[in-house]
Amino acid sequence: MDTTIPPTMPAVVFRQGRGLVLEELPVPSVDPDGVLVQVAHTGFCGSDHALIQSGELADGSILGHEVSGRVAACGKAVSDVAVGQRVIVRPSHCGDCRDCRSGRPYFCQVSRRTIGIGDMPGAFAEYVHVLPSMLIPVPDGVDSSNAALAEAFAASLHGIHCVGRPNGSALVMGGGTIGLALVRLLTLMDFNPIVLSEPVAVKRELGIAFGAHAVMDPLTEETGPRVFELTAGQGFDAVYECSGVADNIAQALDWVARGGDVCIISLIFSAASIQPLTINFKEARLTGCYSNTHAENQLILRWMAEKRLDGRPLISDRTNLERLPQIYGERIAAGQTIKVMVDIGEAF
Ligand SMILES: [Zn+2]
Ligand SMILES: [Zn+2]
Repeated sequence: MDTTIPPTMPAVVFRQGRGLVLEELPVPSVDPDGVLVQVAHTGFCGSDHALIQSGELADGSILGHEVSGRVAACGKAVSDVAVGQRVIVRPSHCGDCRDCRSGRPYFCQVSRRTIGIGDMPGAFAEYVHVLPSMLIPVPDGVDSSNAALAEAFAASLHGIHCVGRPNGSALVMGGGTIGLALVRLLTLMDFNPIVLSEPVAVKRELGIAFGAHAVMDPLTEETGPRVFELTAGQGFDAVYECSGVADNIAQALDWVARGGDVCIISLIFSAASIQPLTINFKEARLTGCYSNTHAENQLILRWMAEKRLDGRPLISDRTNLERLPQIYGERIAAGQTIKVMVDIGEAF
């Protein structure tokens, strides 16, 4: 690894009215309590697209939070972090408030700090400045591409933990990165059958490759009879909404079994209407989940190290910082990608 840190670096910056723009910026100086990470890869997340489209992103923002890399420099006050260490980066939190102590550190209102999607510049850049508490070491046997995908799997794992079922039948609605990651994780937990509902053929094929027992196309198939047939008329023990389509919540409640769970993992910004009686008559639970924990990321990385999990088939496109603005316009915004991985620095 090259340990000389250059004075400037390429970065992809959001500019009002122009969108994503490649710029040359100073490399961040290292605060006494900070760490500089040399980025290997950063995945492009659906939430990055949502932020760009929202109109609420500040001019000059650097996105990018699904990052793997190596520690390039440590501040004077930092111990327990070594230059060269292979890491992923997750938000930090106070560790002591009601939310942190209840196991939901992502709700911390005291000192949640996060790169790329919150208060600190992100990793669509050669270097990113972080706090030591944000670092999760990457175990041996996990390469930098897989490591950069750990957070997407952790988000799906968090949905499974929020529902809390050890096994059963499961329907995954939507085969984007989160839905496909969920299919893979449900197979590791012996859910059966696992069914993926997704209108795009290549995503259904990846669902099968990831271990789904059946797939269906909600736009062209008679899905009602299919659900009946796949679950012996009972409906699914767990239904995970991963598509972002508001109408799917009512559909999920129709297809969940009596006593079953519906969990909304996708972030749906529009209003949705449901029939509350469906919940009464099934005693179904409707829940949602948000973010994920360090422990969930560590578990995903361990499964990757044990070769039980390989996220890399999710990578539909590889690009670099120079081409990212163009790929964003041509492929990502047009919905033609699954996971776009931006190759930035030296891979491991
Ligand atoms: Zn993300
Ligand atoms: Zn807290």
